[in-house]
Amino acid sequence: MTTTARRFAFVDWTLRPDQDDDAPPTTYAFRCLTLTEDDTECAATSPASPDPTEPQAWTFDHMREHPEHTSYAELIERPWVMWRGCPS
Ligand SMILES: [Zn+2]
Repeated sequence: MTTTARRFAFVDWTLRPDQDDDAPPTTYAFRCLTLTEDDTECAATSPASPDPTEPQAWTFDHMREHPEHTSYAELIERPWVMWRGCPS
């Protein structure tokens, strides 16, 4: 009975990307994936920026400091929102 009630409470909700004017910005960052001597990830991370080219510039700065660090992951944070009712 409880499970059914819970399911009904969420039936009208839709998850969608938040593209409202007041939504938080999508941000971009890069993390260094290079494995260090003890086989752990360097994990140095650029500051997050709404401008995707800024963290790309950070990778060049990081490689200048650590010439062997050549492997990166891009971290994209995109806002989503729960929306009551079906999207129109
Ligand atoms: Zn690194």
